[in-house]
Amino acid sequence: MKVTEMKHHTLVLIVAFCAAAIAAPPSEPANPPPKPNRAPKDLPANEKSDKALAKVLGSDAKIRHTAHYTIAHDTDDDTLNAFVTRIEATYTSVLRFAERVGVPVDPPQEKLKIIFFDKFEPYGRYMKKAGVEPSQEMPGFFSPGRNRSAFYNYSDADSLKKMKQELADARESGKSARRTGQGQQVDFTRIRAYEARIGAFEDRINRQVVQHEVAHQVFYNIGLHNQVFAANPRWLVEGLAMMFETPPMAGSSGIGAINQLRLVRWRQLADEKKLPALRDLVSNPELIVPSSPKIEESYTQAWALTHYLERTKKAQLAAYIAAIRKRDEQKIYSPKEELADFEKAFGKLDSEFVRKWEAYIRKLPAKKSAAGV
Ligand SMILES: [Zn+2]
Repeated sequence: MKVTEMKHHTLVLIVAFCAAAIAAPPSEPANPPPKPNRAPKDLPANEKSDKALAKVLGSDAKIRHTAHYTIAHDTDDDTLNAFVTRIEATYTSVLRFAERVGVPVDPPQEKLKIIFFDKFEPYGRYMKKAGVEPSQEMPGFFSPGRNRSAFYNYSDADSLKKMKQELADARESGKSARRTGQGQQVDFTRIRAYEARIGAFEDRINRQVVQHEVAHQVFYNIGLHNQVFAANPRWLVEGLAMMFETPPMAGSSGIGAINQLRLVRWRQLADEKKLPALRDLVSNPELIVPSSPKIEESYTQAWALTHYLERTKKAQLAAYIAAIRKRDEQKIYSPKEELADFEKAFGKLDSEFVRKWEAYIRKLPAKKSAAGV
């Protein structure tokens, strides 16, 4: 059973971009007050780029326009509609988040581009062309360089198909044993539990991959991040995307909810003393790249730090984001620079900071059932 084996490299963000802007970072909370971030109801479509997008997918490509996205796809309508519900909810939630924190943003000039493959094979070829090692366990990614995200329908993954086949076989043998009164006693409770675990696994993929990658795309396209992608602190980019892995609810991705997937994992790792120190997380970008041996621990810790800052230090977070946006060098910033910018916004990252942060995260209500574990 691979329910717990989802690799955290699925959350990799491909970094390749450049641009420039110049200004001194402010040390005070956002000032003057930001303009409202209300997005226009619909973003304009672009026929020319639609055609280019469809071409990437191939002759079976269909184009679906939603309020904020153009999706080239070859999936069936039910699969696509479920996908659209998630990504539109994520768009709305990201805009609300920016507004709540008080970060001014610029809605994109046209619909955001997504390619949604029904099968892994052509998606794998697309990954290769994008310079990413093809893997079924990386079902989606956003590339800032191409400014588009791509996904494949995870129902086509061998691991999921195998699980579903095992479930179907167990059901079938259960039915036949019941019919004939022969064979082993069948544990239907276990079969139902397995079914629930498969459902939770699929839900987790959708949240930690689809919602997560689309959140990256929206943050980037509303200008919340520095447009020189490498200039953004890795922990912040990932921490912000993880805020949107919560279940979609009534038109939003549940930004009010706590990310139980990450919280439950944080508790386990904290108890095992495996989490990187906050100071290392903030200052060392190497911790949160795909090759890092501490990648999962670093993601988990980045969520816990971002959640804390968003809930308890909104104005400082807004000032920090504004300062990062104004970084003007096309580079990965050094540990010393990262720590200095962090402390300029939030104060000394000392044992007192860590104590308050840890006490806050430990008090959050953790629900294992909501985390699908
Ligand atoms: Zn990510």
